[in-house]
Amino acid sequence: MGDDDGLDDDLHARLKGYEGRPSTVAGAGRDPVNAPMIRHWCEVLGDTNPAYTGPGATAPPTMLQAWIMAGLSPHTGRARPYEELLALLDEAGCTSIVATDCEQEYLRPLRPGDEVTYDSVIESVSPRKTTKLGTGYFVTTRTDVRVGPDLVGTHRFRVLKYAPARRPAKPPERRPRPVVNRDNAGFWEGVRDHRLLLQRCADCAGLRFPWLPGCADCGCPDWDTVDACGEGTVFSYVVLHHPPFPAFEPPYAIGLVELAEGVRMVSNVVGVPYDKVRIGMPVRLEFRRYDDELVLPVFKGVTA
Ligand SMILES: [Zn+2]
Repeated sequence: MGDDDGLDDDLHARLKGYEGRPSTVAGAGRDPVNAPMIRHWCEVLGDTNPAYTGPGATAPPTMLQAWIMAGLSPHTGRARPYEELLALLDEAGCTSIVATDCEQEYLRPLRPGDEVTYDSVIESVSPRKTTKLGTGYFVTTRTDVRVGPDLVGTHRFRVLKYAPARRPAKPPERRPRPVVNRDNAGFWEGVRDHRLLLQRCADCAGLRFPWLPGCADCGCPDWDTVDACGEGTVFSYVVLHHPPFPAFEPPYAIGLVELAEGVRMVSNVVGVPYDKVRIGMPVRLEFRRYDDELVLPVFKGVTA
């Protein structure tokens, strides 16, 4: 579709026909301007301006929209032309909507007790635009806010009603790489050779996992390694259903496995359905290749 496409010109002409027509008629603020709403607003924004408290308080000007919000039924009060405009855009494939910006003008301060009324018009519809989100039309509505006959402010609100851009297909995701550093390099070298190496303290002979630069029990920085025999049990586990992460297809079971040597490690429990994993289930170490450079230790459930 080109921007000079005749059909788009026709659509744009029809959309322009809605300019100046009402989007809300004879709206009324749900509450008069009031001190509690002003206080909440100021607390949330951390605004300590003394003009907003005390007997002569005014409302923060930017609260203009707060006094005219429709609450949880946002369609209340929408005039037919605005509904038609949105429907026309829906039919043209512009089924998504995003608020882009608003502009306000303040003609006089609002004070507690003021009762606001408002009317909105469809002020403008842009030519067709292509953005990162997709292609569509910016629709600007202008709301005139009054107290009695006096115009106290205007609020322009702009949305982009658009056809979502197609996202290019992503190449298959690869599992995240382990972060290998000076303290754990020996472990990953072991994995490469299909060995699960545990550190053993040179002083107290305590085994530890994950790898650390020194012994958490006695502080000794010297160590050697022992090969885990590969037997273990599920000490605890979770089944991940959501959220999905790239390269991981839920649901799957993640186990905290207690090795026969007594240390525990986190890894996937494989070889049994995710909903058959149980605490105490015997598991056996195996090494799985995920791609041309990644091998990981996982634990296969051993069912009776
Ligand atoms: Zn030690």
